[in-house]
Amino acid sequence: MASARDMLHDEQGRVDVKSLGRAALGDWLESLGIGRHRTNDLVQSLWHDGARTFEEMRRFTPELRRKMAAAGFVSWLEPALVLQSQDGTRKILWKLRDGRTIESVVIPDGERTTLCVSSQVGCAMACTFCLTGDLGLVRHLLPSEIANQALQVALLLRGDRRLTNVVFMGMGEPLHNLDHLCTALEHYQDDFGLNLSHRRITVSTVGLVPQLVEFARRSPVNLAISLNASSEAERLKIMPITKKYGVDQLLDACRSIALPSGKRIAFEYVLFEGDNDAPEDAERLIELLRGIPAKVNLIPYNENPDRDIHRPDQDRVKAFQNHLIQRGLACTVRTTRGRDISAACGQLGKAWEQAQDRGWLAAARAAVHGEAADTTGPTEPS
Ligand code: SAH
Repeated sequence: MASARDMLHDEQGRVDVKSLGRAALGDWLESLGIGRHRTNDLVQSLWHDGARTFEEMRRFTPELRRKMAAAGFVSWLEPALVLQSQDGTRKILWKLRDGRTIESVVIPDGERTTLCVSSQVGCAMACTFCLTGDLGLVRHLLPSEIANQALQVALLLRGDRRLTNVVFMGMGEPLHNLDHLCTALEHYQDDFGLNLSHRRITVSTVGLVPQLVEFARRSPVNLAISLNASSEAERLKIMPITKKYGVDQLLDACRSIALPSGKRIAFEYVLFEGDNDAPEDAERLIELLRGIPAKVNLIPYNENPDRDIHRPDQDRVKAFQNHLIQRGLACTVRTTRGRDISAACGQLGKAWEQAQDRGWLAAARAAVHGEAADTTGPTEPS
């Protein structure tokens, strides 16, 4: 696996300043003789103004801009392709500095605009039903690569909609990349940065137990656990991580977490036809979650040609939901969005055969490169 750490510097040895958290940015400014008291200005230039280069940072004098530009660089994701679904969902393919690609999904829903972000290239968790798992883990994303997905989408939306929510439900297992995740979250939540409340950020995990406990200590954002089965034996069949951390161990860890007041842990439960969608499963699920401030989010399985797994019909989904609700467990069903462009849960990482959204692609490139938006010449990723 290529190390993400190698990528912190460019060929000239300059540091990727967007991968530095607040404290490290302060140290960096101090080391340049600029002083850590300018940290807010730098955070604001990078994560609010969206400066493309140090030269653009009007909050600093030309001399200080030159000093910073000699020691650091401002990283951007290259938008390679944008697909638009009939339901308004957009999927963006980003090219990283090493040529690898990741995806983000923008989901408008009334007043809300949710961005689904990736945390790794590929994923090591190998859940049998998930297409991202087929890639294996290629590498962790840098903090800048995690946070730039949100910054660049916020810039694209500016003047039209506001980015209101971020969910870590794209490619990768976020808690497998814990430190980079936490650094990126600093920028998401910073008043001078993207300024998103912890109430509007959700980290979804297979449940790496030690990392989960540590993360809950470090961060107040919402937690979602992908449970997907109502027993240890069933979960073992589809989520290999269960061998390492059993269901009881995972749920005991959830019980031990001191949640911020009013918060509950969301348990994602993908419904597979004939596998985990029976009333007995609902009963077992209720038992499992006893004693946890929990809510359940049912995700009817998104089918794809590579798997002989099916989505239960709507009545069955509704019956499962009603069963939980009648027993006092809060339960929602996730609406499927972006299915026609393979942007729905578990469908990221697929081939790119669909129509492109030229307007957004051009705007996304203009935001990175500064040229006027030209909607005539999209290119395919190579
Ligand atoms: N690794 C993290 C986040 C990525 S997956 C995690 O596992 O939570 C986000 C959600 O999509 C998970 O709950 C996962 O179980 C679900 N998912 C994966 N493939 C799916 C598919 N084909 N249909 C529906 N949901 C799927």
